Amino acid sequence: MSPPMSPPKSLQTRLVHSDYTAPDGFAAFPSAIHHASTVLFKNVEAMRARNWQDKSAYTYGLHGTPTSFTLEARLAEIEGGAYCVLAPSGLAAITLVDLALLKSGDDVLLPDNVYNPNRELGNWLQRDFGISARYYDPMIGAQIAGLLLPNTRLVWTEAPGSVTMEVPDIPAICAAAHAAGAVVAIDNTWSGGIAFDAFGHGVDIVMQALTKYQSGGSDVLMGAVITRDVVLHRRIEAAHMRLGFGIGMDDAFLVMRGLPSLKLRFEAHDAGARAVATWMKGRPEIASMLHPAFADCPGHENWKRDFTGAGGLFSVVFDARYTEAQTDRFIDSLALFKIGFSWGGANSLCVPYRVQAMRANWRGAGQLVRFNIGLEDPQDLIADIAQAFASLE
Ligand SMILES: *Cc1c(COP(=O)(O)O)cnc(C)c1O
Repeated sequence: MSPPMSPPKSLQTRLVHSDYTAPDGFAAFPSAIHHASTVLFKNVEAMRARNWQDKSAYTYGLHGTPTSFTLEARLAEIEGGAYCVLAPSGLAAITLVDLALLKSGDDVLLPDNVYNPNRELGNWLQRDFGISARYYDPMIGAQIAGLLLPNTRLVWTEAPGSVTMEVPDIPAICAAAHAAGAVVAIDNTWSGGIAFDAFGHGVDIVMQALTKYQSGGSDVLMGAVITRDVVLHRRIEAAHMRLGFGIGMDDAFLVMRGLPSLKLRFEAHDAGARAVATWMKGRPEIASMLHPAFADCPGHENWKRDFTGAGGLFSVVFDARYTEAQTDRFIDSLALFKIGFSWGGANSLCVPYRVQAMRANWRGAGQLVRFNIGLEDPQDLIADIAQAFASLE
């Protein structure tokens, strides 16, 4: 308790300056939610000595409170990294990496199956910022060496691409990029920080859309950029500060609330998805199963070598005899699967993609439909798909 202020102030002032301070020593499992724009300093000397990069102290709400510092540290630990910065969405985390590492005259390589807003960003940087953005076949492997130019600073990877699901050879891409002096970033959202050790396979920068598995609640948007190298971290942190990328501490709390169950949920999504995919694969309506754990999926061998699990997201290609109108009817006929983007939450989702328009060299004419398997009973999901298949005919 702080000593009472004297002389007594008016009610209006006491409404702002309370005498009461809660006792120290409260302990509980959840981290407290520390909201702050203004952070208070003990005295002018402490204020003058502030350093916004110093994680052993606090300077301003935008640079963090105990809540965001805790979430950063926990995410770095999960990915096996040393540093983490939080961004207001997964896409903001992607933008942060590009703006931290690229300047006019530089070149960035992105996989042709990249998360589409990342492609939009690349195209924007190319059109308006004097940065060239080029796209490579996600299955290129070591041959990416032939695409690396002296000004290629950054190579994006995604493992797997979240619509067409190719699993790239990350160690081969990293080796070639590093030999050419480029940094490798990965959008590691699909494996939730659980099923793929990105740093262990040579990646320099891990990006996560915490919106997905880490949150798990379909109720929060947030992203993270995790690094091991302090020089890279400083560049990302400086861009983060200049861009003013803050996050809300209630949102940080929501993400933290999801972390203890992250692995259990991921494994339940994985088991459910494999059960549904195994059943679908045996059906005549399905031409190919784009699930990394299945042999049809390009890069399946890379997945087997490098990954420890699969999560809930996969796509299927329908037999080419079905038109878009028919597969749209199939999706509309599903009851448990809702139509919507994102994944990692408890509810199963389904989205069609016009992949022939997205990918110049896409082979095959069948309709691509992406499934996110939630936490429902897989047998009920299978029954739902079975009844919806009837609407195809
Ligand atoms: C969802 C997602 C993002 C972006 O996350 P938001 O928080 O929705 O901006 C980035 N990459 C992948 C692979 C995603 O699935």
